[in-house]
Amino acid sequence: EAETRRTVDSLSEVMVEAARFYKQQLKSSPVAVEYLKRRGLTGEIAGRFGLGYAPAGWNGLQAVFSDYLDPKLDEAGLLIVRDDGTRYDRFRERVMFPIRDVRGRVIAFGGRILDKGEPKYLNSPETPLFEKGRELYGLFEAREAIREVNRVLVVEGYMDVVALAQHGVSYAVATLGTATTATHVHKLFRHADRVIFCFDGDKAGRRAAWRALENVLPELRDGKRVDFLFLPSEHDPDSYIREYGREGFEAILDAETVPLSAYLTRELSQRVDLGSDEGRAEFLNLAKPLALAVKAQALSILLRKKLAEMAHLDVDELDRLWGLRRGLSGRQG
Ligand code: ATP
Ligand code: MN
Ligand code: MN
Ligand code: MN
Repeated sequence: EAETRRTVDSLSEVMVEAARFYKQQLKSSPVAVEYLKRRGLTGEIAGRFGLGYAPAGWNGLQAVFSDYLDPKLDEAGLLIVRDDGTRYDRFRERVMFPIRDVRGRVIAFGGRILDKGEPKYLNSPETPLFEKGRELYGLFEAREAIREVNRVLVVEGYMDVVALAQHGVSYAVATLGTATTATHVHKLFRHADRVIFCFDGDKAGRRAAWRALENVLPELRDGKRVDFLFLPSEHDPDSYIREYGREGFEAILDAETVPLSAYLTRELSQRVDLGSDEGRAEFLNLAKPLALAVKAQALSILLRKKLAEMAHLDVDELDRLWGLRRGLSGRQG
């Protein structure tokens, strides 16, 4: 226990040092500064998010860590260590986004390549400090704004969070290249009653939205709500707010955001033919595991009622079909 804490503390110190180094490197790297400017970011916002730059060269971190062989550098995910023991900086020639925990400690980095190249983003590996499925980029920076408006936007990318903040929409966080998990949403509901998913308008973004829906159903509680905003297919939140500004973004947010239940029923009804008995039966089969995952009582009843109506049943028949009451299915609920 105490051992683990010592490890975590010493890795934390390493991350703080690295973040300071990357930040200072940004100041002396005109290409990186130019890149951020081109993306519409000011120095003020770069400072707020602690953005940095990992310079070219294989051992840049040697400049700040006297012992490049210190195993902590590897444990913190800052190096790549080959089987033969040779090692080099994991992040090179990338704009660096420090990922902080909710108390503001740097626990990982995301690094974006300047312009083109693969992979576009490189993230820290999982370390004793960093468990991907739990953390949200920007939560530390956003948490006061989230409380103030009692809602939080969940977006896909680092740049989405930073660009939204640049335009005054400071209540956004991003999942870190992973699917939204129940843990993420559980965490967010501690800060606000309303979670709004706003992923990229492309196919990948739409798929991510559906997966988010599936994962959050068990976290729904009466008094909490989850909504979805679908952007035009050519946009992500960054490109949208750069084109239309804060007002444009908040206008589409007000006009187009749909509640989870509406998204669920709309999506399923598009997959089947509700005009036939067979299609309606299929509809109910698709809806069943989703609806049964909802524990929020009022929402659960309302959702079943809506699904029943769409399938031309009444809710008692649906409940019997799904074994929630004695009857049709023969099982007891
Ligand atoms: P940008 O605007 O800088 O081009 P983006 O955020 O719009 O980037 P997307 O391709 O939409 O990039 O990806 C969304 C998010 O998914 C990224 O911000 C990043 O967190 C993650 N991601 C994308 N590509 C990769 C990758 N190759 N490896 C790991 N994570 C990635
Ligand atoms: Mn995308
Ligand atoms: Mn994107
Ligand atoms: Mn983008």
